[in-house]
Amino acid sequence: MGKVGFGLAVSCAAATCAIAAILVGKRVRSRRKWRRVVGVLRDLEEACETSVGRLRQVVDAMAVEMHAGLASEGGSKLKMLLTFVDKLPNGSERGKYYALDLGGTNFRVLRIQLGGKRSSILSCDVERQPIPQDLMTSTSEDLFDFIASSLKQFVEREAQNSEFSSVKRRELGFTFSFPVKQTSVSSGILIKWTKGFSIKDMVGKDVSECLQHAMTRNGLDMRVAVLVNDTVGTLALGHYNDPDTVAAVIIGTGTNACYLERTDAIIKCQGLLTTSGGMVVNMEWGNFWSSHLPRTSYDIDLDGDSPNPNDQGFEKMISGMYLGDIVRRVILRMSQESDIFGPVSSRLSMPFILSTPSMADMHADESPELIEVARILKEDLQIPDVPLKVRKLVVKVCDVVTRRAARLAAAGIVGILKKIGRDGSGGIASGRSRGSDGKMRRTVVAMDGSLYTRYTMFKEYLHEALCEILGEEIAQYVILKVTEDGSGIGAALLAASHSSHSSSSSSSSSSVVDSQRLP
Ligand code: ADP
Ligand code: MG
Repeated sequence: MGKVGFGLAVSCAAATCAIAAILVGKRVRSRRKWRRVVGVLRDLEEACETSVGRLRQVVDAMAVEMHAGLASEGGSKLKMLLTFVDKLPNGSERGKYYALDLGGTNFRVLRIQLGGKRSSILSCDVERQPIPQDLMTSTSEDLFDFIASSLKQFVEREAQNSEFSSVKRRELGFTFSFPVKQTSVSSGILIKWTKGFSIKDMVGKDVSECLQHAMTRNGLDMRVAVLVNDTVGTLALGHYNDPDTVAAVIIGTGTNACYLERTDAIIKCQGLLTTSGGMVVNMEWGNFWSSHLPRTSYDIDLDGDSPNPNDQGFEKMISGMYLGDIVRRVILRMSQESDIFGPVSSRLSMPFILSTPSMADMHADESPELIEVARILKEDLQIPDVPLKVRKLVVKVCDVVTRRAARLAAAGIVGILKKIGRDGSGGIASGRSRGSDGKMRRTVVAMDGSLYTRYTMFKEYLHEALCEILGEEIAQYVILKVTEDGSGIGAALLAASHSSHSSSSSSSSSSVVDSQRLP
């Protein structure tokens, strides 16, 4: 080989080595990036850990906070608000009643006709409307005029139908699902807004009065017979259908729970309380907090960026308003750690751009190529061409965030059962878990909210955790019953049981909370 040939061979070898080095370098860098992204997932999993031991600590903390909130005003982050609802519908109600349900993205007006037998709701007409975004942060007059005029139109459409022409003053159950300090069963003062509403002039005002005035301004003759929140409406419908129902839990845009408490346990209001021996307590559990809750840096950031930092801590880990945004934050962190999602999409930095229903759709994607995940990443987040293994990672993120939420909600429910002695603690023979005949008592919890009713994996994780915490023997007596539309129908039922017309408003014929059934 001549000198030239030798030189050529050396150059070729050097070039090959250089290319190989570049390729190896690329692969090493890409592996390093992948490891960093997987590291983000591992950290998330660790921070979201919800072993049964930890869940039991949350159960205990919930029960302790419930005691504290009942002992004194401001005694806990759980407000444990009195509802003054001491009778729940029992099936004897008759007549036509209305409800107005305001508490989230939509409001609904409805009318029911009751036949006087349990579960015999003869007819139910519902109309649903979105709340225009600008009214959520406008004035109370603007909001309530809009609602009252919709209600009036609803009633006027009925007036054309002769069957419904009525001489009596119409009565309405008003479901208003924000924290209210109740002053009677039909009046209460708004404590604060949640779920994106912010109408400053309403905080501290009587909510029923605002509606009553708006109805008068709009020429609608109707009385607010009860003011409740959606959980109380759900409990009312649950109890109407099944008298073993002792609590209601809603997991939708926000989350909250209420339950039937013995009046002697409501220490902060001794003396004020009533004949029936029981009262529904609105926990406002979205604001529950405990150091045992598994909190991540994403939760801390989400809270800090929210309009209500340090508030609604439990809700921010559990409810539909937030789960999608937690996932978005994790994906953002992943895309900052490495370019496996391509250049950082500016959409990914936009709060709430990934909705919880989209997250649920990604989570439920069972196609081998994860086509739905690819579509949502592209359309919602403007991240196209994500490799399959990265799409799998995204599904895993959805799984971790939802599993934690569902398991914490389960712990919250068991916390309520523990407070009322229905968790079987002390073993299956424990006192209040058994009836006077010595048999285990059924304990029914009415459940609603689209996150629970429509997100299958969420529901499954919740049930699984409930069984784990209670043990199967006890869990078989605890029944979670989907009770849809309780926030509307239940309020109309309560309007019936608290009506000023019907004899059912007297305690003899209405379902006074049955002391036999008190927890
Ligand atoms: P609200 O709480 O506003 O009264 P819903 O109980 O219907 O109304 O809850 C609505 C919330 O539930 C939405 O904001 C969304 O976060 C969540 N959601 C609705 N549908 C689904 C779904 N298919 N999967 C997961 N979450 C859902
Ligand atoms: Mg609702």
